Amino acid sequence: MKSAPPCILTINGGSSSIRFAVYDAGETSSRRVAGKIDRIGLSGTTLTVNSEAGKPQVSRRIAAADHGTAVGFLLDWLSSQPIFESVKAVGHRVVHGMKHSDPERVTRKLLAELHRITPYDPDHLPREIGLIEAFIERHPKLPQVACFDTAFHRSMPRVAKLLPIPRRYGAKGVERYGFHGLSYAYLMEELRRLDAPAAKGRVILAHLGNGASLAAVHRGKSIDTSMGFTPAAGLVMSTRSGDLDPGLPYYLARNEGMTAPQFQQMVNHESGLLGVSGTSSDLRDLCANAATDVRAAEAVDLFCYQVRKWIGSFAAALGGLDTLVFAAGIGENAPQIRKRICRELGFLGIELNLKRNSRNAALISTDTGRVKVRVIRTDEELMIARSVARVLKLGSYRRLKP
Ligand code: ADP
Repeated sequence: MKSAPPCILTINGGSSSIRFAVYDAGETSSRRVAGKIDRIGLSGTTLTVNSEAGKPQVSRRIAAADHGTAVGFLLDWLSSQPIFESVKAVGHRVVHGMKHSDPERVTRKLLAELHRITPYDPDHLPREIGLIEAFIERHPKLPQVACFDTAFHRSMPRVAKLLPIPRRYGAKGVERYGFHGLSYAYLMEELRRLDAPAAKGRVILAHLGNGASLAAVHRGKSIDTSMGFTPAAGLVMSTRSGDLDPGLPYYLARNEGMTAPQFQQMVNHESGLLGVSGTSSDLRDLCANAATDVRAAEAVDLFCYQVRKWIGSFAAALGGLDTLVFAAGIGENAPQIRKRICRELGFLGIELNLKRNSRNAALISTDTGRVKVRVIRTDEELMIARSVARVLKLGSYRRLKP
């Protein structure tokens, strides 16, 4: 009897959710199952599972008061699924990898290093390490690969990595790292497939979701990105502030008695679109309310204005622009936001074809505009699966160089 084709499990652990998917390791990397546990630590924690075709198969309330319990539940559930017998490797999204510039197989040494660098990302790394260790405990023979969200940006020149503070901090690793690297790597693979010469040119990638950032890419390599030492930097986001005046923490400490942990909480969870609107972190809600609520209108204005400024700044860093790519929840689905971002950018050669834009077409620029503007549906999970296949030489990647 023919044995089942090998599969790869991908794990993407967030603050209140864990997404997972199972892919064939073969030519097509097709997705067999995808699901998530969300609202971890809140009321109504739910396991949702979709089939290959995206059809909902399971939606079930579970008890998971904390991340550890949710991980235990997920491992029990996965182990009980027939497809799990075909899983030959697990890939994890690891938000921070410091100097690592490629996905790597998890070893004792790598785990020890992840523990050591936890102070650089105390919000994400402990949970991600917890997930890796839970798999080691239950399935010690299953190879695991860490895919770092910072890796894509390790190619940035030193001038883009430097933070203008005393050098002694730089020597300890306090520098600009950049994030959303799995999404950017996927977008560049797709661009290469769609238009190989364009992928060698001057490209701006705009990953606009709840977390949002832009990257400037030249000859396929990241030369700059809007996020920095942490993912709170850069562009205004759903609940993160993005860049702020460095004098603000001192003002808030002196006049409001704000502590460092309170500041951290504010800039990550209470700011951005939520902070400015006072009502919602979700751009769809804000667009719906903008006509009647000036605070919602201001939040949308600020978002579009800042994205436009980052595009202008990166066009300068690149010395011109050939391709602009929109991706993630807002970038892929919000024509009115793309239109507002691009409205004043004609001087850069960015001209939208409004019909194509309103359809979320793959190419939304005019035929005469100098810059090709594209919408590409990003897929971080698929990028993880491909990376695992490459690192472990599974399936079709057995024949390919990394
Ligand atoms: P995450 O970073 O959590 O993966 P997503 O990439 O799913 O986030 O993006 C979520 C954002 O996308 C939300 O602000 C949501 O309102 C926005 N969004 C999704 N669809 C639309 C739409 N049709 N119009 C405007 N905004 C949208």
